[in-house]
Amino acid sequence: MKCRHCKTEVTNSFLDLGSSPPSNAYLTQQTLYKPEKWFPLKVMVCDNCWLVQTEDFADAHELFDADYAYFSSFSSSWLSHAERYVESMVERFSLNQNSHVIEIAANDGYLLQYVKANNIPCLGIEPTQSTAQAAREKGIEIVGEFFSVALAERLVSQGHQADLTAANNVLAHVPDINDFTKGFSILLNKNGVATFEFPHLLNLVQKNQFDTIYHEHFSYLSLTSVKSIFENNGLQIFDVEEIPTHGGSLRVFAQRQHTGTHKISDRLISLIEKENNEGVGNLKFYQDYQSKVERIKNDLVCFLIEAKKSGKKVVAYGAAAKGNTLLNYAGIRSDLISFVIDKNPAKQNKFMPGSRIPILAEVNLKQAQPDYVLILPWNLKDEVADQLSYIKAWGGKLVTAIPSLEVSS
Ligand SMILES: [Zn+2]
Repeated sequence: MKCRHCKTEVTNSFLDLGSSPPSNAYLTQQTLYKPEKWFPLKVMVCDNCWLVQTEDFADAHELFDADYAYFSSFSSSWLSHAERYVESMVERFSLNQNSHVIEIAANDGYLLQYVKANNIPCLGIEPTQSTAQAAREKGIEIVGEFFSVALAERLVSQGHQADLTAANNVLAHVPDINDFTKGFSILLNKNGVATFEFPHLLNLVQKNQFDTIYHEHFSYLSLTSVKSIFENNGLQIFDVEEIPTHGGSLRVFAQRQHTGTHKISDRLISLIEKENNEGVGNLKFYQDYQSKVERIKNDLVCFLIEAKKSGKKVVAYGAAAKGNTLLNYAGIRSDLISFVIDKNPAKQNKFMPGSRIPILAEVNLKQAQPDYVLILPWNLKDEVADQLSYIKAWGGKLVTAIPSLEVSS
């Protein structure tokens, strides 16, 4: 295959997770008796621009038939993250009622509601109908399309030039990353700033976060690769922040090339240097990953089999996409994990895709009193441990598999 960014022939494997169904294709009582479509899940690395990317395969469009929408406002920690982002951008770039803010992947208006509350004119881009509707109900104007050069040109012709654009957790999800990025160089005002947040490849590799890999996620981004993509599409990065979301993300700040409005920050220079020192621009950095991931899988599967042999009961917590990657890659089924607890009523009484493990409400955990609870969303480990502290009463223990197998004392 050709690299999605630089079009070099990509031949180096980064990680092969076998195959799995789309991570959000939860099964119902009805669909449980039908076959599922499994798709290859293999990630490659380009040795020219260092973009880590999923391998192309036939029928990829079928992945997105699953009618599933994630509403950002369900997460209170994500809401407060958005509120703090807006406060800090308003202050740093002196935004006011004469400014214009545009968010790509505006979801249900979780972020723009705070822009609107500051009386700053704003516009959201959101192709998913159900979430777009929820944003409109908050009084936010939404364009219901995918972002591209064509859409950026149309918006500019309608007077929508942006002083600030926000694009959180979307850069990695777009198949045509060049066209998407180029759109921002058109949409931005001369002095405008575009910010992007995405999980940092350095954490994926060094903290073994391989379960953040799934089909809908086309790219796994380092600052090195993003810099190359941006420079080839009319954007210049001038600053970067390391933020804790999703197990460690980057927030990059970019301006239109050759405007020079915002000076290059020291932290940008030092993070590029750090990636260089860690080996991001060297094939060796990517080649050991498969064996590290296999060790994690083996440790977890051994633990579950030992637990089973000694008559212990194990359940899991959090029916999230990353749990599906882990369970399907490791071949774990309901003989080893009886059920998964999830707080979201929309997932309860459904089944995990592929593994077909039932998803139940928390009350079932209290009834079953399992010996072990495997926390699948390890990024929320502290929050979940607080919430489940009552399992100690019956001697229950918490388990996490990533970055390495850990059982609470
Ligand atoms: Zn490339």
